[in-house]
Amino acid sequence: MFRVPDTTDKTAAYLPGRVLGIAIPGPLRDLFDYLPARNPPRHGWQAGLRVRVEFGRRQLVGVIAELRTESSFPMEKLKPVTEVIDDEPLPADWLWLCRFTARYYQHSLGDTFAQAMPSLLRQGRVLEARTRERWHLTDKGRATEPASLGRATRQIALLELLAQHRHGLVHTAITAQGFTRQQLETLRGRDLITSLEEPVTGTRPEHAHKGVLAEPDLSLNDEQGRALAHLHEGLGHFSPTLLEGVTGSGKTEVYLQLIEAVLDRGGQALVLVPEIGLTPQTLERFRRRFHVPQVMLHSGVSDGERLDGFEAARSGRARIVIGTRSAIFTPMAKLGVIIVDEEHDGSFKQQDGLRYHARDLALVRGKQEGIPVVLGSATPSLESLRHAREGRFVHLHLYQRAGRSQPARLHPIDLRGRMTLGGLSTQSLEAIETRLTQGDQVLVFINRRGFAPTLTCHACGWLAECDNCDARMTLHRHPPQLTCHHCERTRPLPDACPACGSGDVRPQGAGTERTEELLGEKFPDVPVLRIDRDSTQRKDAMSEALAVIRRGEPCLLVGTQMLAKGHHFPHVTLVVVVNADSGLYAADFRALEQSAQLLIQVAGRAGRAERPGEVLIQTRHPEDPNLLTLIQAGYPQLASELLEERRVAQLPPYSHLALLRAEAPDQQQVEQWLLKIGAALRQHLTDSNLRVDCLGPVPAPMERRQNRYHAQLLLRADKRGALHEAAAWLVTLCEKDRDARRLRWSLDIDPIGMA
Ligand code: ADP
Ligand code: ZN
Ligand code: ZN
Repeated sequence: MFRVPDTTDKTAAYLPGRVLGIAIPGPLRDLFDYLPARNPPRHGWQAGLRVRVEFGRRQLVGVIAELRTESSFPMEKLKPVTEVIDDEPLPADWLWLCRFTARYYQHSLGDTFAQAMPSLLRQGRVLEARTRERWHLTDKGRATEPASLGRATRQIALLELLAQHRHGLVHTAITAQGFTRQQLETLRGRDLITSLEEPVTGTRPEHAHKGVLAEPDLSLNDEQGRALAHLHEGLGHFSPTLLEGVTGSGKTEVYLQLIEAVLDRGGQALVLVPEIGLTPQTLERFRRRFHVPQVMLHSGVSDGERLDGFEAARSGRARIVIGTRSAIFTPMAKLGVIIVDEEHDGSFKQQDGLRYHARDLALVRGKQEGIPVVLGSATPSLESLRHAREGRFVHLHLYQRAGRSQPARLHPIDLRGRMTLGGLSTQSLEAIETRLTQGDQVLVFINRRGFAPTLTCHACGWLAECDNCDARMTLHRHPPQLTCHHCERTRPLPDACPACGSGDVRPQGAGTERTEELLGEKFPDVPVLRIDRDSTQRKDAMSEALAVIRRGEPCLLVGTQMLAKGHHFPHVTLVVVVNADSGLYAADFRALEQSAQLLIQVAGRAGRAERPGEVLIQTRHPEDPNLLTLIQAGYPQLASELLEERRVAQLPPYSHLALLRAEAPDQQQVEQWLLKIGAALRQHLTDSNLRVDCLGPVPAPMERRQNRYHAQLLLRADKRGALHEAAAWLVTLCEKDRDARRLRWSLDIDPIGMA
């Protein structure tokens, strides 16, 4: 598992340091030396205090990272910090995790701090709870008969209103009913009411409850019960667990009851979910179950709410934090468990800037804090499966679906030599018709949005390609145009073939829009709901579609992976996968693992209620051994075989990778630079006897994107430590290299894709 290269924290709590090493947001990994300001902070100079400093001509917010006794610069050249923002340093658990992250991912500490804090903190806002005013009756107010106020009718009404609310009312709730501050102040002047300031987030809700539960637990089935019992044993110390349970087996119910145990012990819980998995349904389930303050961190949360959430979690007031990957950086005073749901999901890895993996950091954090970490999935990552098989993780299974629902059956549909309409074979269309007649819902899964993947000329074979990228342009109908999904460049539709002038230009293949259109024509009496990135641009589009689906009447859902994850569709009994082939033969060594996971996720949408579900998998390779294994023996068997292949090929999780990516408008320049860097690295590996392979440079799978050329150098090692030594050396080399300034480069530790 994760071993930290160097965990010692060089910063003592207090040091009579004459120089402050400040981490400044930006790409540079060095700390910058400043002198203490004349007025020391209230509790002395400490690491973790935010300061404002003059940096070039700008004022920036940095974090004190080290107290140094001397500087490598002449002291007279150092500037004092402009201002100290915090009285107290940022939370210790948070500082520790940021330092680890910066070191592990070879990233600037200043930038790591900046990315790990809410944007308002980055801008220098003070870290304190936002408060609101709550009004309630005084003893005298309670003893006063409202009618005794005579003719002051508004004041009488106000007193009556507050008398109905034993725990008082917040100011805005009172003014929303038409009362004014002046009326409140008048009553306060007569000693009948008074007000208190309370934090906006994480204050006890209105009603006084006993315990943490707002609604009762479900009674667990045997498998769930055994899993929960195991998880209980892990409380109070670091115990990583893989909870492998088929879709609908009730993993979430197990998380909820584990969290309950943590809350009962006074602890807090952190729940990480994939980007697409953070649905209102999921949030609602937590909100309904627990009667404790909860913080939800998702893309719809405002900056102010983020700051509140950060503060409420740090102080311990918020008891549950649920969020997408960046929520791993939420400081928590009494963290008792971390749960990573759908742990295999790619959205836990950030793909630019600070390229961290939130699941991996969850394990690191759990170990550091001595708490259990639960990774849940129906289709675990090969990384986690290996840890589980080799005994580093407890491995728990849920084989049965909870409740009464049946698992879905998978069938391949051979597309070879068959006509398709809107991407669908006759067999699939017949199956759809049957299900609709039975009154069921059907889900059609296509991983391409737009009308068709591209436009082609039937006379000369011309294809609509993007001028800026090595990619085809997607045909869209609304509005009608060609769009490149890699650079967003658009072009009007040509009337004739730009190459040969023929008028026989036709869409090639099917995207969600085309299938939607075809299904609309075939089944005019049934609503067809398309769900993809384009159709959900409008804010309420998704929830409106979900409302229709939940009504349970027959309907057709057409969508991309936005539909495949996180949703429960109890009335869907048939899933059609339009094209299973793209993932089977992709170049990336993880493509097969990822597409198998996606297929099983999609399949999991079917047959969640009483009726058994069916999944039709359209393919031109019905004899593909991997596909057959998946269909006949299931994901665990396929995963075993893939693990064995990875072991033989010495690929992750049986080795460790780092990818140096570079890009520039000039192809030669990128290649030359990587050749030079690669040569220097190989020399260094030899000289220092580091057991690391350096492969490449090679062009990226899509070499030209937005008119820039992308190429890469791959580092591979059996031992993580060796890889890290090499990576650290490499980053230093690139930072010092003069030619590097003329192109863009980045180092990705544990990349999950080679693109
Ligand atoms: P998963 O997270 O594994 O996909 P969920 O926890 O969402 O599964 O459970 C799937 C469905 O089964 C949900 O509707 C849930 O309410 C129900 N369920 C889970 N556990 C039980 C149980 N012990 N008894 C009855 N229903 C259950
Ligand atoms: Zn042509
Ligand atoms: Zn493009």
